[in-house]
Amino acid sequence: MSFELEHTDISPESRVDRFGVVLAREMFNRNAIEKRAQELIENSEDIKNSEIENEIYNNAATGLFEKITAAGHLSHIEFEGDQEEIHEATIKRLLNGRLENTPDWENHRNFAEICEELTVYETFKKIKTGELPADTMIVTHSNLPDENVDEEEKIHVGYRTLNAKGMLRTYSFNQNENGEWVRILEQVSRSNSDDNSTRDWFNSHASAVPITSTGALSEQVIVSSKRLPNGVVSLVEELDGPDRLYGESEAELIENNRPDYSVLREVSAERENTLGVYINEINQYDTELKQKQEIGEISYAVRLNKFDKKINEINMRILLLAPQYTKDTYGKASVQNIEAASIAFYQGDHLLAQRELEQGHRVRNKKASVGCGGSGKADSDSDFDIDSKINPFEQAVEKASEDKEDWKWSKGVCQVKSCSSRPGQTEVGPCSVCKNCQKKFDAGEDPTKEADYTPSEGREKSGGLMVFLSNVTVEGKNLKKAA
Ligand SMILES: [Zn+2]
Repeated sequence: MSFELEHTDISPESRVDRFGVVLAREMFNRNAIEKRAQELIENSEDIKNSEIENEIYNNAATGLFEKITAAGHLSHIEFEGDQEEIHEATIKRLLNGRLENTPDWENHRNFAEICEELTVYETFKKIKTGELPADTMIVTHSNLPDENVDEEEKIHVGYRTLNAKGMLRTYSFNQNENGEWVRILEQVSRSNSDDNSTRDWFNSHASAVPITSTGALSEQVIVSSKRLPNGVVSLVEELDGPDRLYGESEAELIENNRPDYSVLREVSAERENTLGVYINEINQYDTELKQKQEIGEISYAVRLNKFDKKINEINMRILLLAPQYTKDTYGKASVQNIEAASIAFYQGDHLLAQRELEQGHRVRNKKASVGCGGSGKADSDSDFDIDSKINPFEQAVEKASEDKEDWKWSKGVCQVKSCSSRPGQTEVGPCSVCKNCQKKFDAGEDPTKEADYTPSEGREKSGGLMVFLSNVTVEGKNLKKAA
């Protein structure tokens, strides 16, 4: 191939700047990286658990948004402090993810992630010494596994097969005002990641093409930010091409109402801010679990399992207040019940809310559920970790009443079509309803049933409700423009 011949006399480091895309294996000795990863796994018994600053909080946020968003969410995490310690703690976390009941194919993916982390750190060292430009990024395509195993097993391990959810991520490094290095990890979720988009991208831009999902996970790409000016957002845009948004076709994207690329960072940050109280609660809970783990009361696998169940409980409380997350969290079949539960909840009919919530939970699509990376689900089949004497749905309604008081209001368009504040922006609550309309709900009325209400397009009728359709998306910007 002429491609390779053209570049043979230029070092990979200078090619990053000149050509934008270089495979990590062209720059680093892949065999050495794999050997190192193997050694780490073999010696993992001796490696004690240690945490990165804010790791529990970041895990809480990631765990929650993994479950309530299926595509079109961007998480942005900054790691400040000694970069070597951050690297070591990341390796330890990955080694901890190799649980007794983890299937081999998932352990292969974990191995690829350990190699990824080693590659990230090697790249950082070159950035630090100036061998690579400061704007260098490391790119990973983490798509739905395509191993020939039962779908059940993939779901069990924690993959969302319903929309073939995958993640694209980039790592970059900045120096703060004190000259200290900061690692920045950005990840975007997308649908239909098992299509050919990753293969096509490598085909057009790189000198080798991975043919499997785990192969792609093993193939880091070193890029200049000149090549991907908006980082991971530019990457997902390239993989989408002209007709898709976060991997979703036009029909899907009208129904799902994902934010446009231009507002993805803003919308995602706003979501995380709005749901901050829940992230704090999960953080607090996991901190207690960590203490129990440290004194040997529970194993790491049990901790993951309990963490997972806590998020399931919190999901229900969020859905009562913000049912626009239902389709991503439970799948389409639950939307009607959860919206009815939410309306009943806001109107103060807690018994009806509980009944609709339970029904919505019962009809949920299991393929929509995800764990958090080897969540140790085999330990128990129950979704919730609460006393069997307490009805989890009753408890969710009760707690959601408390949550309602803490909810942060933010700027947005009221989703009640008959609302006089529309189409302008105003202060909106959890389900993107303004304070005026909220008062009507609180008084037991249903403003969605007012005279000039018309159901929104592209969406099946669900109990005559159209509230809750949108997220905090800025209206008019949430559909991709025709290319
Ligand atoms: Zn309103």
